[in-house]
Amino acid sequence: MNDDLSRSLAAAQGTCAAHAHSLGELPPLTRASGASEGEEDVRTAKRLRLRRAAVAARANASTKSGLITLGRVGLYRDQGVVLRTIKLGEADRIVTILTQVNGKIRAVAKGVRKTGSRFGARLEPTRHVALQCYRGRELDVVTQVETIDAFRRIREDYGLLTHAISMLEATDQVAQERQRNLALYRMLVGALRTLDSRPSPVIAAAFFWKLLSLEGFHPMLDGCARCGAESQPLVALDLVEGGALCEDCARLGGRRVSPEALATLGMIVNDNLRQVLAGPPPADVLEEVERLAIDAVEFHSERRLRSAALL
Ligand SMILES: [Zn+2]
Repeated sequence: MNDDLSRSLAAAQGTCAAHAHSLGELPPLTRASGASEGEEDVRTAKRLRLRRAAVAARANASTKSGLITLGRVGLYRDQGVVLRTIKLGEADRIVTILTQVNGKIRAVAKGVRKTGSRFGARLEPTRHVALQCYRGRELDVVTQVETIDAFRRIREDYGLLTHAISMLEATDQVAQERQRNLALYRMLVGALRTLDSRPSPVIAAAFFWKLLSLEGFHPMLDGCARCGAESQPLVALDLVEGGALCEDCARLGGRRVSPEALATLGMIVNDNLRQVLAGPPPADVLEEVERLAIDAVEFHSERRLRSAALL
């Protein structure tokens, strides 16, 4: 990881920890019923019994799965980046979040589409939040949210937003539900912070190549990936061969790449993103590097990046 991203990550950790502690007391799990006479009493008692039984069942389940709980069963706190949301019923949404500790989770945000919702805009894609959730069998339920990073600059700039959304989509594709992936989480938060503070089209491209590296794909760029020649100029990139190709091998396949794009790509995969950001190559080279990155992500995930069409 380059110095710049590492620094913003270190800062991220500090802010995150501070926010995690400021979430305050957990709300009570049950609320006393207002009506309390006759049949209403019986119904309330029955409801509470059922609820306690459900809580107990979840307690057993969460103990077995090693869920981090906070004194109360099934409730957990974490922090994460909102990857996407879909509508649920009249007023709710299902929110997909890449969290620091619990991996990718899907949670219901109740009433989030009503005006005056207590969640406000805090659960929109790109938001970095501290949250408290109630663990469910498939879907969790969001009970509290606080913003860590609003990424206002990204949200107000369509160009930056499309880059951010394509990073979120690629993250969503590789992240596994409820499987912790701290490196991915840190990389995403770092990339969003860099995009928000020092916008550049190279950030999304670098993020894609880093994502592939995390998944175990490191393109070979210091020699021909097919014949191994190291002294020949490299003129193409072949994802099947796993790297750059010399002129002879490029006749058999691969995609032609400019020397400038290959050089930029080399700096990115060798952790010199700072150098690229300091002296950015011309727009057409950046575009080429980005296109190569999107192709590589789609090739390795065997899925289209829908948001890449907007870039
Ligand atoms: Zn070759």
